[in-house]
Amino acid sequence: MQNRIPDPAAPSSYVRPEIAALEGYVPGEQPRDPRVVKLNTNENAYPPSARVRSAIVEACDRLQLYPDPSARAVRERVAELYGVDADGVVVGNGSDEILSLILRAVVDPGDAVAYGSPTYSLYDTLVALQAARSVRVPYGDDYAIPRELFSIPARLIFVCNPNAPSGTAVTRAELDALAIARRDVLLVVDEAYVDFADACATTMGIEHPNVVVLRTLSKSYSLAGLRVGFAITTPALATELNKVKDSYNVSRLAQAGALAALEDQDAMLAHVARVRATRARLGERLCALGYVVAPSQTNFVLARRPGVSLLPTKESLQRRGILVRWFAELPDALRITVGTDAEIDRLLEEIARP
Ligand code: PMP
Repeated sequence: MQNRIPDPAAPSSYVRPEIAALEGYVPGEQPRDPRVVKLNTNENAYPPSARVRSAIVEACDRLQLYPDPSARAVRERVAELYGVDADGVVVGNGSDEILSLILRAVVDPGDAVAYGSPTYSLYDTLVALQAARSVRVPYGDDYAIPRELFSIPARLIFVCNPNAPSGTAVTRAELDALAIARRDVLLVVDEAYVDFADACATTMGIEHPNVVVLRTLSKSYSLAGLRVGFAITTPALATELNKVKDSYNVSRLAQAGALAALEDQDAMLAHVARVRATRARLGERLCALGYVVAPSQTNFVLARRPGVSLLPTKESLQRRGILVRWFAELPDALRITVGTDAEIDRLLEEIARP
């Protein structure tokens, strides 16, 4: 489309046709009314470590200066936590930014990007932005890694583990097998929710030459509003990703808050334990109400009524001030974030009503 001639009467003709044709990612609703019970975007039910606030306030004194472009203190803390090389850690404005960096660094227009489906729907949008092709392979009922991913032609493979919106997880051994079978492909293991799971595979990022593991502080560390995520990979791949990122992609306040949160593992672990306990209770109660609930390793559950559209249930909950997520591709399911015990009691009371 080198000779595209923009038409002032059609403003979208000034942008790339791939962008003009795109609907754009639709994030879950962020209501203004704080009384709404918000169980739709998988935020943490609890606030971050108290140390985060004082670290951010202190960092305000130096806001006239740009932040550290490589977020060195955060990288070093991550390196210490996971026993990896700080040169293989890349910090981003949320892990969404790192997903975007990876697409830009790796994928040419027309390339195939493969992943199980359903999964994190932002992958579709990022692939389309790059004028690449999404190859979505359906998950089976057991949510194991689809066999096709072991051989399908692709430039990049995503495995979201634990997966969203199913909440299910595959084992480290399955992920290692995929990484080894697919040395021809970059494998991204998106561990956004892994702190809520029984096991993680984070060190895979340094043990394979073709793996990037993504983590976020938005979920387990209760910092969705701060926007910090990180990648763990080899220093060689980190060098390539760093060429794509903006110099000052993570603000001074975000770096200070992230460091304080990473230094208070006790606060994070205590909140994760509470979420896991509430998750078990929510799953049991939903099953008792007749829903089919996949075993969740995350801070949300996917509740299904096979063959029955749950859009009316979602809408009726919404009218009563409770937001949950419903997806057109999964009409018989609701994704429900594990809130506080009080929030989940409200949800259970309302969802049980005819
Ligand atoms: N991966 C998955 C699977 C997610 O659900 C999310 C949050 N919506 C992200 C990555 C991105 O998280 P963040 O940008 O807040 O770090």
